[in-house]
Amino acid sequence: METSVDDAYATGAMVRDQEWQAVISAGDGAAAALNILSKEEGEHFHDFDTPDDAAEVFGGADE
Ligand SMILES: Cc1cc2nc3c(=O)[nH]c(=O)nc-3n(C[C@H](O)[C@H](O)[C@H](O)COP(=O)(O)OP(=O)(O)OC[C@H]3O[C@@H](n4cnc5c(N)ncnc54)[C@H](O)[C@@H]3O)c2cc1C
Repeated sequence: METSVDDAYATGAMVRDQEWQAVISAGDGAAAALNILSKEEGEHFHDFDTPDDAAEVFGGADE
């Protein structure tokens, strides 16, 4: 959703000419928000918590 204009993102109906659904626009907006937060944080940003034993239960890195 990042555009050629610095710090300007485009989402929803303005960038999709086929997938016209409100939930798709909302999802695009959420994805763009995570892109922006990741850019601000300098690393991939998750906006959810993970339980302390997530790595043990699910395997892999506990992020
Ligand atoms: C007839 C019709 C029926 C639909 N039915 C459904 C349905 O049943 N279910 C469903 O999920 N989706 C439906 N959709 C699709 C859904 O409406 C769109 O996917 C969704 O509204 C897109 O959201 P958006 O925020 O991207 O854009 P929009 O909802 O178009 O919002 C863009 C906003 O930006 C404003 N704007 C434009 N230019 C400027 C400017 N220069 N400055 C300030 N503001 C500006 C506009 O006035 C508008 O309020 C329908 C669409 C149409 C046309």
